[in-house]
Amino acid sequence: MRRATAHLNLIYMSTPPLIDPFARAISYLRVSVTDRCDFRCVYCMSENMTFLPKRDLLTLEELDRMCSTFIRLGVEKLRITGGEPLVRRDILTFFRAMTRHLDSGALKELTLTTNGSQLARFADDLAAAGVRRVNVSLDTLDDEKFARVTRWGRLPQVLKGIEAAQKAGLRVKINTVALKGFNEDELFTLTEWCAAQDHDLTFIEVMPMGDMGEEDRVGQYWSLSDLRNRLSERYTLTELSHRTGGPARYMEIGETGQQLGFITPLTHNFCESCNRVRLTCTGELFMCLGQEDNADLRAPLRSSESDAPLEEAIRNAIARKPKGHDFDYSRQKPDGQVSRHMSHTGG
Ligand code: SAM
Ligand code: SF4
Repeated sequence: MRRATAHLNLIYMSTPPLIDPFARAISYLRVSVTDRCDFRCVYCMSENMTFLPKRDLLTLEELDRMCSTFIRLGVEKLRITGGEPLVRRDILTFFRAMTRHLDSGALKELTLTTNGSQLARFADDLAAAGVRRVNVSLDTLDDEKFARVTRWGRLPQVLKGIEAAQKAGLRVKINTVALKGFNEDELFTLTEWCAAQDHDLTFIEVMPMGDMGEEDRVGQYWSLSDLRNRLSERYTLTELSHRTGGPARYMEIGETGQQLGFITPLTHNFCESCNRVRLTCTGELFMCLGQEDNADLRAPLRSSESDAPLEEAIRNAIARKPKGHDFDYSRQKPDGQVSRHMSHTGG
């Protein structure tokens, strides 16, 4: 049986890469390894979350099989996210398992998005597993505001994590969600702190994800074009032409040489160059962050020791990848809203 499986896998190795109906090659997989988190950011989770039962989650071995199949089909970049990826038990085992794909050259980049709370513990081991860059979410440099926006988080712990990551040789990118009336007054403080610490910085527009109950998402929305105008009152900004196939656009600050990323899903449509899909911790594949359509990959994975049914399910899913999303705040009501939480799909 083993041998037959190996033989089948060999046949599938020579299969063509993943191309969607709009001729976009899928080379980037974001994987949510848990829906749990040690924070409760106001734009992401409600205070009382009901998490998935553990049995619904893909095991670490299953995550390995999923990712390895995508890599065989041409995925070159893997971003591990959540929930908070570093609170998943034994997650280092998974990172270490992925090192073999970096070593073979099939995988070009293994990276993660984290809230930073556990980085002090994990930074050295992540670096040893081949992680070179890490995205850390940080919306404010003020202790009290940090506790308010994350509800359960504490700033000093995250700053220690960031420091440990840098010491371990990881390049740190700070992700800051632009929040009206919350971090508008820290725009320059955050930018200058990142320049001084040599961190990259990306601003993100808040997206209409999940049913947040009392939180007013339209009220939280601070458009990045407004943010950019404010920056240009102090700095000379030049738009850079390079894109990464994702939603980020880049600008350079003439005075410091710093590059800033802007993720503007609501004011700019970035879908035409989308090269990515997202896998949830239960094995659903979302072909678009802003659409509900998804494919169950857990059933085909569990149905056979061979990866053939899984590969077929992946191909069928990619054939359904939509042209783009429908987020729209223009009518002052989060239209095109999807009901799942960012922590489920993996931001
Ligand atoms: N826990 C990790 C973290 O916070 O970095 C990884 C998962 S988190 C869901 C990934 C990113 O999504 C974070 O940068 C977070 O700020 C962002 N995010 C969460 N909810 C969002 C929303 N409604 N709109 C925009 N970004 C959001
Ligand atoms: Fe947790 Fe990240 Fe969501 Fe904040 S944004 S609650 S840290 S998953």
